[in-house]
Amino acid sequence: MIGGTRLGVMGGTFDPIHYGHLVTAEEALVQFNLDRVVFMPTGTPAAKTHQRVSPAEHRYLMTVLATAANADFDVSRMEVDRPGVTYTVDTLEALRDEYGPRTELFFITGADAVWEIVTWKDAQRVAGLATFIAATRPGYDLEGALRAHERAATGFRIEYLTVPALAISSTDLRRRVAERRPIRYLTPEPVVTYIVKHGLYDEVR
Ligand code: NAP
Repeated sequence: MIGGTRLGVMGGTFDPIHYGHLVTAEEALVQFNLDRVVFMPTGTPAAKTHQRVSPAEHRYLMTVLATAANADFDVSRMEVDRPGVTYTVDTLEALRDEYGPRTELFFITGADAVWEIVTWKDAQRVAGLATFIAATRPGYDLEGALRAHERAATGFRIEYLTVPALAISSTDLRRRVAERRPIRYLTPEPVVTYIVKHGLYDEVR
């Protein structure tokens, strides 16, 4: 694609967002020569319809607070505002319509989510809409993931990105808040303040 735009789409529940996500987006921006990264907090995540997730508005606002200082990052309300369960196929198709064929889409998310990609709604359509950048935590079985995708021969374009900062996890942050342990330096200060102000994660889940 000569002269086209390379748009990163950072998909996640972000409950809450943390430095691991921010480092992932920055690494993807540089390594894959992206023009911008749009953070896309899920509305009602497809994989979590039976789990308790914080209201989308809180997750959206924390993402805005965390990314505000980076001129290459934006946050989209697209999934937060779309009624019903969030499916990535709908998001990628809407972005394709909005930006046109000269924009190449790169969907960035956690490798554990990408592992299940063949089960996503309209997986074959999803495969044709974007390249996937799968961020891995230290110790991730990258060889196993590569073999599994080779065996499945799905036609998905998947690139792996190892991000040491993903030793930080949203699960750990929620647990820390519930156990009254510190989360400062694991997520930007305005997010810490927001969590305290709104009493998020007061119970373990
Ligand atoms: P998840 O199961 O909460 O996350 C799986 C793992 O990936 C967790 O370890 C998570 O760590 C990490 N992770 C999540 N988003 C990340 C990101 N952007 N960068 C780096 N690590 C990330 O996954 P999810 O939030 O439900 O789904 C991830 C994305 O895939 C969302 O955009 C979702 O809409 C999409 N998805 C779509 C379908 C579908 O269309 N049917 C199905 C499943 C997922 P943290 O907990 O620390 O974030």
